[in-house]
Amino acid sequence: MQIAIDGLAGAGKSTVAKLVAEKLGYLYIDTGAMYRALTYLVLQKGADPGDEESVFHTLRGMDLQFHPGAGTSSYRVTVNGVDVTERIRHPDVGKFVSLVSSYGRVREAMVALQQELAEGRNVVMDGRDIGTTVLPNAELKIFLSASVEERARRRLNELAAKGYDLTLAKVIADLKQRDHIDSTRAVSPLRKAEDAVEIDTTDLSIDQVVERILALVAWRETHV
Ligand code: C5P
Repeated sequence: MQIAIDGLAGAGKSTVAKLVAEKLGYLYIDTGAMYRALTYLVLQKGADPGDEESVFHTLRGMDLQFHPGAGTSSYRVTVNGVDVTERIRHPDVGKFVSLVSSYGRVREAMVALQQELAEGRNVVMDGRDIGTTVLPNAELKIFLSASVEERARRRLNELAAKGYDLTLAKVIADLKQRDHIDSTRAVSPLRKAEDAVEIDTTDLSIDQVVERILALVAWRETHV
């Protein structure tokens, strides 16, 4: 079974997707980490994230690997042999990742890789275009939303826990900018798939969201 979880930045996708994958014993694939890894490499090489050709050139020279950890959902990410698991969460990467992932050729290559990773496996995959483009035949599609204030609060807590000192206003502005680029880009923009179930997580705990998704999985298993 393939489960696609899409939604806005900070809506809780990766936290929820990891837990769902763990409960079901499925493989978790974090597609945002792939775009972040590329963005990290572009910045690290001093290439211009605004230049599609340089970004694509960087992608061709990138050896991206996911190394599974103890559980089904823990993993380390390496780029050209260097462990970048923490570095790809840096706010600078967050600032440029939407631009880097807006290029058609970048998306084409990433989508092909993601489809290959999911092929014939039980997976929970999270991102922006999973239900619409990467896994259009996924058995279950979820679209997570939440108010921008709540999403910013969550992101701020996450970043503060990692030692980054940002204000709520700055995080709100960054999220709005990322949402705007993600939903208006020409190639596979962030969009709820027609057959996706939308869950507004603003007033829900992580466990409540996970429970709802597991209930949908159970329902599907008994009724379809
Ligand atoms: O999920 P996360 O917030 O880590 O994703 C970072 C960025 O990567 C998103 O804001 C978006 O620009 C890009 N992305 C994408 N398509 C995906 C996953 C992420 O364009 N499937």
